[in-house]
Amino acid sequence: MTRRRIGIIGGGVAGLTAAYVLSRSADVTVIESEPRLGGHAHTHRLTDPDGTDLRVDSGFIVHNRTTYPLLTRLFTELGVTVQESEMSLSVSCAGCGLGYAGQRGLRGLAAGLRGGGLRYARMLTEVLRFHRAARSLLARGAEAGAGAGSPAPAEPTLGEFLAAGGYSDYFIRHFALPFVAAVWSCPPQTALSYPARYLFAFLNQHGLLTVTGSPPWLTVRGSPSSSRRSGPEHGSPPSGGSRRRRPAARAPAARRLPRPW
Ligand SMILES: Cc1cc2nc3c(=O)[nH]c(=O)nc-3n(C[C@H](O)[C@H](O)[C@H](O)COP(=O)(O)OP(=O)(O)OC[C@H]3O[C@@H](n4cnc5c(N)ncnc54)[C@H](O)[C@@H]3O)c2cc1C
Repeated sequence: MTRRRIGIIGGGVAGLTAAYVLSRSADVTVIESEPRLGGHAHTHRLTDPDGTDLRVDSGFIVHNRTTYPLLTRLFTELGVTVQESEMSLSVSCAGCGLGYAGQRGLRGLAAGLRGGGLRYARMLTEVLRFHRAARSLLARGAEAGAGAGSPAPAEPTLGEFLAAGGYSDYFIRHFALPFVAAVWSCPPQTALSYPARYLFAFLNQHGLLTVTGSPPWLTVRGSPSSSRRSGPEHGSPPSGGSRRRRPAARAPAARRLPRPW
């Protein structure tokens, strides 16, 4: 029987993984419009003002074993080594002088009291309320989904959810917006127009709707470039190789909403 020939458009992590799996039973060619593979997973070489060479990852930075079982399996198969990492939120407000660090436990959080005082202490209680309300919105959706075909109510955006919950402007500016904009790599105004349920589902899945529930985070040892190197070359290479092409004509349309991270 002749082997199937498959063309994959896009050499990001999705395309490379598909190529890796499909190349067991087909001749695969990856078509990529950029001069490098990896898509979002990219390590930039920068020089800081002192002239020191820096390598800065701009995508696909952290993962964990709970939420990413297939990626974990892929890394094991390819022999990609990972190491413990950290994913946390630190905020520094040039306007009011507030500064706090989520991952440094009570010490990092208490640091906020210096710049924020009582308003900051109140904000911490709002964080707990926000987590509870977000989880309850998700739970209500699950119940409605289980019910008999009644029309789904209009879904709020994050901005509408915050307004309906009466959250303080201080909480929105010093927690909600930095948090969502950082996770989603998007400007604050874009964060406000994001559908709340979709956002909360992502946060919940990653253990980010509780103060202590976040799973241990991991990162690829070296950089995203090293996991990319471990891809086609290290595992079964796409048998047709990878080719640089002008954008394929019928590639999927760009998504209108920004993606997580
Ligand atoms: C700043 C930032 C930080 C992130 N941090 C994390 C993180 O910590 N953990 C995590 O899990 N995820 C993170 N992500 C998300 C993760 O990087 C992406 O979800 C993932 O890399 C997407 O892979 P992909 O293959 O689907 O798409 P992409 O990486 O976008 O790859 C698509 C590829 O297709 C090519 N292409 C597109 N159209 C055409 C065409 N018409 N013809 C030919 N080629 C085409 C593009 O050039 C690109 O190389 C982050 C993303 C960003 C932007």
